[in-house]
Amino acid sequence: MMAWRTCLLLFVMLALCWNKFGVSADGYRAAEERCQKQEEEKGRVHCSRSRSRTVQEILSKYLLPFVETQKYNLSSNSCRLHPNNDIFHEQEEKIEQLRPMQWQCGYCHKVFQTQTYLDSHFDNRHSSMLGMSANRCLADFCGALHCDYVDGLSNSKWKKTTCKPAVVDRNRHLCEVLANNCFPKEQSAAAQWLNDFFKRQFCDAHTCDKQLQPFPHGSGKHENSSLYFAICILTPFILAIIYFVVYLQYRDLSMTRISLCRLSQHTHIKMRKAKLT
Ligand SMILES: [Zn+2]
Repeated sequence: MMAWRTCLLLFVMLALCWNKFGVSADGYRAAEERCQKQEEEKGRVHCSRSRSRTVQEILSKYLLPFVETQKYNLSSNSCRLHPNNDIFHEQEEKIEQLRPMQWQCGYCHKVFQTQTYLDSHFDNRHSSMLGMSANRCLADFCGALHCDYVDGLSNSKWKKTTCKPAVVDRNRHLCEVLANNCFPKEQSAAAQWLNDFFKRQFCDAHTCDKQLQPFPHGSGKHENSSLYFAICILTPFILAIIYFVVYLQYRDLSMTRISLCRLSQHTHIKMRKAKLT
């Protein structure tokens, strides 16, 4: 009887997880499995922190600057990419890097040598601060948003492996579901623009065509900051060169004047000597 009730409870919870965002079975299978596991092992989180962090980095670099430009507000109810739908969002806000080797916990102000130690500390001491929900794991979208590609670029080890059509189709489908849920075309002109943009930026590269790379529109943020850093670094150099050129000209001018003065004095002395003789 108990087993039957447990099954019924699990079924209801799975159904709730299923209907939460009204998406297809393929796209959200990972979330359902997590929901089931959480019921089996209460309190334990099955969501990769590092992969969620990679997704967050991808979003802040390749999507959110464009969303801001369009002045579009993501819905936390329908869009799984909304910051509030990141299980680690609150903890991530509490990370503070004081110096290169000093990471501070914003809850208890303990300091750690590496971010990995701080992550473990969060898991061990502040797990109550996690939003325990099956639908709040950003790592579920690593396939759709090309985490392997980004992680590979940072490790300089990424190479496109043998294409598996089934995996490619699944990721493309999940990617398009995200585009349609986060930017419903019928909502506004901005939503329509972002829907098309999202598919070009993230979904089109889910193909076995090796010519297509993810993020063809680049970063809306990184380029500006690169330009800013380039200006910051180049400006002192240019100013130093200008000062040096001006200094050289001034020095040459001064030396010419001194030479002319000496020549004039020398001529004057010669003329006086000639008069005396
Ligand atoms: Zn702490």
